[in-house]
Amino acid sequence: MANTDEKLQKIAKDLLEGGEVSLVIGYTKGSIPQRMRPVFITKAQDASRLSFSCYAVQDLAVFLKKPEVKKFGKIGIVVKGCDEKAINALIQEYQLLRDDIKIIGMECNGIIRQNLADKGEAAVSETTVYDKCLICNEHTPVLYDYLVPSENQKLNLSGNIKPYAKIEELDSMSAEDKSAFWKKEFDKCLKCYACRQACPLCYCSRCIVEKNMPQWIDTNIEETGNAQWNLIRAYHLSGRCIGCGECERACPVNIPLMLINEKMARDTYSLFGNKSGLDINAKPVFGVFSESDFNEFIK
Ligand code: SF4
Ligand code: SF4
Ligand code: SF4
Repeated sequence: MANTDEKLQKIAKDLLEGGEVSLVIGYTKGSIPQRMRPVFITKAQDASRLSFSCYAVQDLAVFLKKPEVKKFGKIGIVVKGCDEKAINALIQEYQLLRDDIKIIGMECNGIIRQNLADKGEAAVSETTVYDKCLICNEHTPVLYDYLVPSENQKLNLSGNIKPYAKIEELDSMSAEDKSAFWKKEFDKCLKCYACRQACPLCYCSRCIVEKNMPQWIDTNIEETGNAQWNLIRAYHLSGRCIGCGECERACPVNIPLMLINEKMARDTYSLFGNKSGLDINAKPVFGVFSESDFNEFIK
């Protein structure tokens, strides 16, 4: 019986051979066993390079915003459930046509944290995977054209591990203490914009931080500008972030960006009942107005 990689490779090969897509974006084995890296396949005979494992950490949907990729027209892409939600959000926001994409969904039971993978960790468990995997509802992607089943065992959750526990801790703090916590984190920011580059939903051709007539955000690396940048980016992603975690993984100074994103996602859900990237036919939450919307802030 074909294993995961063989099934994946056959789907990609058939898509390329049949001319249904001219590019397949997927993962291939890295130069060390615990690493995978993105690969761009344009010839059917190269489909054998495709692979998938619990080290396939990158959200490949980020490449869909690149002009070099868009020029291929019809594209096949290998996605985990969390990353697939980015495709749905891009379709919702008219950045992508459903007919232009073939989604090769991977059943996924968790991705091992990169710092542990680098030390040789090979077992998917509640102590080795990312927080997002512990609250995952999309082990099977919500939308796909092809589905490749997982060979890994399902995560066995004991309930003793609390993902994103710091959010509850922050919620219980005074405004001053919360502000001090975030000031300390944002003070580390280098304004490298790796978080933006890694995000599949940061696709503006000219980011607000690069606009200087007027200058909305102080681009200096200092207290006010750092807070402005991180808070404005968080607001721009609120109701849109699909929780892939790539911004936090890209941050060279380890600012816990997922705490902000997850907090915004929880608040958007409790206020508007919205979860990003689950339905390509739903309108983006901040793109619609309802009289019953939460509006305490303008009273
Ligand atoms: S959040 Fe779900 S789909 Fe995404 S890597 Fe974790 S287990 Fe896989
Ligand atoms: S803000 Fe971060 S977690 Fe959210 S979609 Fe962008 S990269 Fe992924
Ligand atoms: S990746 Fe980190 S350091 Fe770079 S701009 Fe984003 S928050 Fe700042």
